[in-house]
Amino acid sequence: MSVADSVILFGASGDLAYKKLYPALYRLWRDDGIRVPVIGVSRSGWGDDDIRDRARRAVDDAGEEPDARDFAEFAERLCYVQGDYADPATFERLAERMGDARAPLAFLAIPPSMFEVVVQGLGAADLDREGRVVVEKPFGRDLQSARELNQVLLANYPEDRIFRIDHFLGKEPVQNVLITRFANGIFEPLWNRHHVASVHVTMAEDFGVETRGAFYDDVGAIRDVVQNHLMQLIALLAMEPPVSDSAEALRDEVSKVMRAARPVACDQVIRGQYRGFRSHDGVDAESQTETFAALRLDIDSWRWAGVPFYVRAGKAMAADVTEAVVEFQAAPRPLFADADCAPHPNHLVFRVKPDDVTSFHLQAKLPGERLVGRGVDLEVSASRAFGEGPEAYERLLKDAMEGDNRLFARQDSVEDAWRIFEPVLEDPPPVHEYPVGSWGPEEASRVLEPGDSWHAPAVEACS
Ligand code: NDP
Repeated sequence: MSVADSVILFGASGDLAYKKLYPALYRLWRDDGIRVPVIGVSRSGWGDDDIRDRARRAVDDAGEEPDARDFAEFAERLCYVQGDYADPATFERLAERMGDARAPLAFLAIPPSMFEVVVQGLGAADLDREGRVVVEKPFGRDLQSARELNQVLLANYPEDRIFRIDHFLGKEPVQNVLITRFANGIFEPLWNRHHVASVHVTMAEDFGVETRGAFYDDVGAIRDVVQNHLMQLIALLAMEPPVSDSAEALRDEVSKVMRAARPVACDQVIRGQYRGFRSHDGVDAESQTETFAALRLDIDSWRWAGVPFYVRAGKAMAADVTEAVVEFQAAPRPLFADADCAPHPNHLVFRVKPDDVTSFHLQAKLPGERLVGRGVDLEVSASRAFGEGPEAYERLLKDAMEGDNRLFARQDSVEDAWRIFEPVLEDPPPVHEYPVGSWGPEEASRVLEPGDSWHAPAVEACS
């Protein structure tokens, strides 16, 4: 597939463009030699100088601080088209600025209500051409709306030119799950219901909704991060080995996990809301939106039948951490253990945030006279060993420009991910209040099997 010959940035004056896309475009220009025209489009009454100023501030804020000559060379490629997306004249002006570009990458960094309008505008003005489209999350708000959005996109672009972005998949530690599992032979024999007792996925943020109250009150934790980011992570943890490293082989296996996942029943979910959420600007005083969700997911496959996947996501929590833990079965009977410290079963931790450490927890002899073990972690950090990789948006933007959709969600898996949460989205159980700085409501333990407990991130008992 050819490399995109231009970028059309819808939402050029927006927050996402500022925080992520201008810095990513700059780094691609500087480090990867991707030197294509970038045409920003939004309503703001800007000209070319304004978009260049905006990009300069965005790049500086992202910590790059290029010198003036360096940046000027990058900025020369930036230009701006002002207009409302609902106005066909906007696309006519855009066509003029695009000149001979035949394969534009249209990045939709815009409110979801505008996705359809823009895609149809591109089609009507024949600007989809041989190009590609990147669609930001949220991809629909339920199964029905996701299907409708897919139909709109597929009416204008073939599936292999549609890039449904989930920036989680652009993160190095998330991709590291694939390398750990499939580039090392030792894990595969253990990676199944015979040896794995449970899988825990946690995405905890130690801050609240801050100024995004109105947005969040309409969305909630399940739609915001569980249905997309955490399901993508679970798919990488649970998938079968792909038959090759091609995009379709990988996406086929992701899709099979989504299909095999049982819809989450309402009694397998606990929803929580942190104390004070309703006082934020834009949040309904009677809001029933969850800022926390804990649930059990079952994957009905030969590999995973009976293994609970426990998922927890929340705001205003005790720590800022995202991780997945694969907990292996305990040794059949305790040996070399003492009464005051029961050994924790072996587990493999993939930490995505705050760092990229993968650690394997096992027992080692406690120095001294007694023949007893204590838990220790074998740790690997790819960034410490090899240096930092690209930022997620930089990586994904480059992939989309080059037509590599390995790390983008496919139509079927997006729809299946919505199917899994349909019962709970349609008939949500009540929310339980929890204190700011906690691990969510106590009721969260109800989703666990007897004898199981939530994994406390990075906190080891008896250390
Ligand atoms: P903003 O509200 O900050 O920006 C929206 C952009 O769309 C602005 O440039 C605005 O232009 C433009 N726009 C909206 N309506 C029109 C219209 N009718 N005609 C022309 N331009 C229009 O949104 P964000 O940048 O925060 O988010 C964009 C998308 O990215 C959303 O889908 C969001 O869910 C997603 N996203 C955002 C993240 C973030 O960190 N911000 C993170 C992950 C996803 P103007 O200002 O000129 O009106």
